[in-house]
Amino acid sequence: MKNILVTKALLPPYEEYCEMIKPLWESHWLTNMGEYHQQLEKELKKYLQAERLSLFCNGHMALELVLQAMGLEGEVITTPFTFVSTTHAIVRNGLTPVFCDIEKDTYTIDVDKIEELITDKTCAILPVHVYGNMCNVEKIEEIAKKHHLKVIYDAAHAFGVTYKGNPAGNFGDASMFSFHATKVYNTIEGGAVVFSDKELEEKLYWLKNFGIESEEDITYIGSNAKMNEFAAVMGLCNLKQIEWAIKERKRVYEQYRKYLENVSGIKLCHVKKEQESNYSYMPILVEKEFGQDRNQVYDKLKEKGIFARKYFYPITNKLECYGMKFNRGNTPIAEYVSENILTLPIEPLLQNDEIEWICKTLLER
Ligand SMILES: *Cc1c(COP(=O)(O)O)cnc(C)c1O
Repeated sequence: MKNILVTKALLPPYEEYCEMIKPLWESHWLTNMGEYHQQLEKELKKYLQAERLSLFCNGHMALELVLQAMGLEGEVITTPFTFVSTTHAIVRNGLTPVFCDIEKDTYTIDVDKIEELITDKTCAILPVHVYGNMCNVEKIEEIAKKHHLKVIYDAAHAFGVTYKGNPAGNFGDASMFSFHATKVYNTIEGGAVVFSDKELEEKLYWLKNFGIESEEDITYIGSNAKMNEFAAVMGLCNLKQIEWAIKERKRVYEQYRKYLENVSGIKLCHVKKEQESNYSYMPILVEKEFGQDRNQVYDKLKEKGIFARKYFYPITNKLECYGMKFNRGNTPIAEYVSENILTLPIEPLLQNDEIEWICKTLLER
């Protein structure tokens, strides 16, 4: 068997992409909110049923700049069970992360532990939708309203996910999506913020272009985070196959479930009712009863050319780069999950016989 990687980037037919980039050789307009950029913004708004949407060169910059645009100061309650980007975005804005533990079944922020972390310095909550599983958005909204806090979702994993029929981006004050090559939907590298506040729209537009408001007015200390036209074309092409991609991912998930559901010591991620997932990851929790720990399973698979991923690991409140700067909080569940979680290969083209081979290898004692 050939090597099987944890994911494979979604690509459109080669000819379709080439056909679409041809006009760029006429216009010579490669970036700075070109025609394809505008078109993608429009189409994504439609797909995500978003009131407003702003494109970026990647998800991380989208998150960093929306935090800046909101002018936040003080403490942000967040989860350590995430990709480093989430916590970095908080810290790089001069904000202090306050770490809240996660729920045992969905790995999203534990809403019953948020309120005890609120102080007079708290300005926002930054929860993460994990593996296509959405947070308890209703309870988070209730807490935020009561304490006058902003809510910014890291929705990097949640493109195409709906809760009670409502797309993931329509909760909280803003949501960040990542369109990185490894995500369910990609623009090679890219990202977006979905929001409704009209004031944010202009601010984000300026912030991603150095804070330039007009030729001679530089209003904000901005960054450079614009999406280019080649990325936007990839986004337009891939958007046409997103429904197919999610359908195939669901097939892969169901196949895995068939082999792994009733194995003692292997716990599959709970998929919430009332939610349509995008099957962006295939996490398994390797528990004691299995007889081999997570790292052993990871190594065993790797030996056979099957590349799973320890994701998220390590949790971000343990990151070396933050030293002793922040209170690491008390997050035993996040710690347990990160030490025992393994995400298995999943992508639309993964074949049933490959899944069978992965599971057989995994279950070998
Ligand atoms: C991928 C990811 C990001 C960062 O997105 P990029 O587009 O790679 O910058 C942030 N948060 C989470 C949870 C992610 O998975």
